[in-house]
Amino acid sequence: MSLNLFIIGASGCGKSTQAKKIAEKYNLSHFSTGQLLRDEIASQSQLGLDAKSYIDQGQLVPDDIVFAILVQNLQKVDNRDFIIDGFPRLLNQGQYIEKYLANKGQPLDLIIHLDVTVEEIQKRRADRGDDFQDANRTDNTPEAIASRQKFYDDNNGPIMDYFQAKSKLFRVDGNRPVEPIFDDIVVAIDKLK
Ligand code: ADP
Repeated sequence: MSLNLFIIGASGCGKSTQAKKIAEKYNLSHFSTGQLLRDEIASQSQLGLDAKSYIDQGQLVPDDIVFAILVQNLQKVDNRDFIIDGFPRLLNQGQYIEKYLANKGQPLDLIIHLDVTVEEIQKRRADRGDDFQDANRTDNTPEAIASRQKFYDDNNGPIMDYFQAKSKLFRVDGNRPVEPIFDDIVVAIDKLK
């Protein structure tokens, strides 16, 4: 059976950590839209050059760029058996990928929302020290971090509502250590089978 998953949550919520663990356990390709964009920037492609100023300011990269990069990568894995980390960030992105997958005869199985409070995210950032974990990132200024949080706050509600209504949403309490969060996610994924 093929498995198509998405994991979303505020910047700094720990979604990449969970996405890697999920990918390993279920043998899925892991695509982080943020990392794919950073890879494009590193390779100095036109898409990367177009994306860079948005990322550095903590703004969302325009949909046409994000879709192009995502589709390029999904095609490499025949549009199946993947987890996408950091997408959808806008309702429009969710509706786009839903249609895209439907056209390929693939279902969208589940959107996992890792729900972490702003206070917990700030505490983890302080504990980690400046930008220890993300030393390769150029978007760790206080302004860019605040901007990412605002984009998330402004856009997350409609995405949740839309996929909740289709029973495609699993919300998990992310204010806990990595393992109990992962255990809950595994239970939800195993129910899809
Ligand atoms: P974080 O979880 O801290 O936001 P990411 O690596 O997921 O980090 O994303 C870094 C940046 O990449 C975002 O601030 C945004 O500029 C861009 N980005 C990532 N995913 C998307 C997306 N789905 N739509 C638009 N921009 C995105």
